[in-house]
Amino acid sequence: MPASADAAGGENAEKRAFDRVLLKLSGEALMGSLEYGTDPDRVERIAGQVASLRKTGLEVAIVVGAGNIYRGLQGAAAGMDRATADYMGMLATVLNALTLQDALESAGAQTRVLSAIDVTEVAEPYIRRRAIRHLEKGRIVIFAAGTGNPFFTTDTAAALRALEIHAEAILMAKHGVEGVYDADPAEVPEAEFLAHISHREAIERGLKVMDSTALSLCMDNDLPLYVFNMADEGNIDRIVRGEKVGTLVDGEGKD
Ligand code: UDP
Repeated sequence: MPASADAAGGENAEKRAFDRVLLKLSGEALMGSLEYGTDPDRVERIAGQVASLRKTGLEVAIVVGAGNIYRGLQGAAAGMDRATADYMGMLATVLNALTLQDALESAGAQTRVLSAIDVTEVAEPYIRRRAIRHLEKGRIVIFAAGTGNPFFTTDTAAALRALEIHAEAILMAKHGVEGVYDADPAEVPEAEFLAHISHREAIERGLKVMDSTALSLCMDNDLPLYVFNMADEGNIDRIVRGEKVGTLVDGEGKD
């Protein structure tokens, strides 16, 4: 267990199933019921949940997306060069990272934003060892600008950063769905909920967990994913305590 978890976790430490996790928040998670942009109430609620998680001594890193603002594919579909559009998408994640940072600090957490694209006036550059040091000191680390490379997604950034910082799991926050289904439950009412699947099964069946590049990275490195509904405010805490919530995607699949 990391020393900081002992120090900060105190009596709660033994109740945790993990010491260090990476939370993936899509841009849409920040959008609430809006069509576009950021819903301040939603952001405040997410920040409250994450800040209280940190108080248990858990080390928390976050990768944030930008689907609420801009996706590279939108620009590419409108005739833009895909790489340029993707860089715009990465810059949009910086906006979300700063929004989250502000909300987390209002909720009493200490945070640092580390960006894969240099924006040194507002965020530190991404340096792996520095990220780990911040986590050990009890700071919530927000990774901005994805991987820093076009043609990737923030899901891949989540897998990559989680591996780099030795996170024990990725917590994939969804809103409005409990986890992974064999079809989109919004379109297919009889879609079956899948409580436990393997990375390979998710890739082969094209299940909506993460994109295939990100899933492959998790599969090759045996990194488990917990896909859960963040709209239920107790869920994230339950996962961290080792309770069965949502869908577990790991190397084994099936219980
Ligand atoms: N992006 C990128 N490289 C990365 C991460 C993100 O080019 O490593 C761009 C890409 O254009 C993407 C956008 O940033 O569409 C926003 O990220 P994403 O779509 O993953 O956000 P989310 O779906 O999680 O809200």
